[in-house]
Amino acid sequence: MDVITITSNYVNTYLVPLSEGYCMVDTGYRQQEKTFWKKLAAKNISPDKIKYIFLTHHHADHAGFLRSALEKTGAQLISAEGNRLRLAAGKNDMQTYISSFPLLVLSKLSVAFVDATQCFPPVTGPSLDPSGQPLESEGITFKILKGHTDCDVVMQAGEKLFCGDLFMSGIGAQKYAPMWIKNKFEMVKSWEKVQKMSGIETIYPGHGKPFPASVLSGAIEVWKERGALILK
Ligand SMILES: [Zn+2]
Repeated sequence: MDVITITSNYVNTYLVPLSEGYCMVDTGYRQQEKTFWKKLAAKNISPDKIKYIFLTHHHADHAGFLRSALEKTGAQLISAEGNRLRLAAGKNDMQTYISSFPLLVLSKLSVAFVDATQCFPPVTGPSLDPSGQPLESEGITFKILKGHTDCDVVMQAGEKLFCGDLFMSGIGAQKYAPMWIKNKFEMVKSWEKVQKMSGIETIYPGHGKPFPASVLSGAIEVWKERGALILK
């Protein structure tokens, strides 16, 4: 069974098939919730088929309707300890850099619309620790990295890597880097770790289209050379 992608407002939510049901990767902004359930219904998937929700990181475009999705599906949350306080606060970490000067405008706009773009209903319930490899019996493994935020978790299912915003493709991406970068040096180190993970052929980002892992070495070289970033 193939991975199902549901995209709204330039945010990808993935449904990875398990032996029974699905593991959902991230949600979307909270404003996208209605659209998401409609698109899911159009694919003939009922919410109770979602058995796990894996959160790559705490940002509002990934955890936007996490709280109500957990209630609606009865799924178990897979989220790292490093995201717990941010999830409980329901707000993005604002201390971050942006990856190119033109994005400064977008950054300023997102600050102006802070409630819509950076806040979400807090999530405080129990979660499974990805470092405990809760889906190992399904052939799915997790790795805790950092760079886009202080805690970016990636999930490997066969030759596919679900990376949240540790990488980005398409509009706004800067040679596979996301718009917001918490720590460029950590990001490059994490990318090198991904490069060493065996068997990955395709990377599925939170924004933009999937891309081949073969582009990583070029992107790492570019970002090793890049100078100072702009503080948001
Ligand atoms: Zn993000």
